[in-house]
Amino acid sequence: PSITRGVTVEIPKISWNDIGGLTDLKKKLKQAVEWPLKHSEAFSRLGVAPMRGILLHGPPGCSKTTLAKAAAHAAQASFFSLSGAELFSMYVGEGEALLRNTFHRARLVAPSIIFFDEADVVAAKRGTGSSGSTTVGERLLSTLLTEMDGLEEAKGILVLAATNRPHAIDAALMRPGRFDLVLYVPPPDLEARYEILLVHTRGMNLDNDVDLKKIAQETERFTGAELEGLCREAGIVALREDITATIIRNRHFEIVKSSLKPALTSQQID
Ligand code: ATP
Repeated sequence: PSITRGVTVEIPKISWNDIGGLTDLKKKLKQAVEWPLKHSEAFSRLGVAPMRGILLHGPPGCSKTTLAKAAAHAAQASFFSLSGAELFSMYVGEGEALLRNTFHRARLVAPSIIFFDEADVVAAKRGTGSSGSTTVGERLLSTLLTEMDGLEEAKGILVLAATNRPHAIDAALMRPGRFDLVLYVPPPDLEARYEILLVHTRGMNLDNDVDLKKIAQETERFTGAELEGLCREAGIVALREDITATIIRNRHFEIVKSSLKPALTSQQID
């Protein structure tokens, strides 16, 4: 992948099968992303404006980034990743320049997906500052709005934004033609946790006594990221016990599980 400061470009290798659970969401996203990127000429033929932006919201560690990458992979789109917090922390004018530059480069290599993580940092509601001067956030937001409106003419570019705080997003971004679709990415339920464990143990050598269904039952409120960590840690415990180990056993999972406390509160799940 080529790297310019703050931006990486590649077609990700993650596929829909690497994401456990979220069956309906994956279906919706698949259609929303693949249609405008792959069949943009069909949209223009019918005079229908293709979707320009999708907002993914939900608690951290529950696969917003991974979904965006899988969507790019499915559409064979170049994937540009930007972080709201990173843009915000740059020198005056640098963040706006990077934003404009990213949209410019995305146009050159379309189809493209621009993934905008921690979008709320940049797209926070305006007019909350006390002074009359424009803040860094306001300037970034207005650049983002200009670029998104400019996508009308651009074919095959989609912006996927992610946030844990959807209510903080400025209403101007939520108008049709900007973020046309808002999708909630929930923490995994029992079935999803089982599927996530299957995904992350796919390449592992597990003993027959490892019961992933039971582990899924015992990991309520765990995020996908925590379940991934659990699988990896179980492997490390097995190796720590015996560096020549060839198999990961149930007790290795148990040891890790008993030391973990889910970061999600029930409030975040509601
Ligand atoms: P953040 O808000 O912190 O950026 P996020 O919602 O974007 O988090 P990801 O970065 O996509 O979450 O996920 C973190 C890790 O957890 C990834 O490495 C991914 O492999 C794993 N993960 C999360 N959810 C799932 C899932 N449903 N299936 C498989 N892996 C998952």
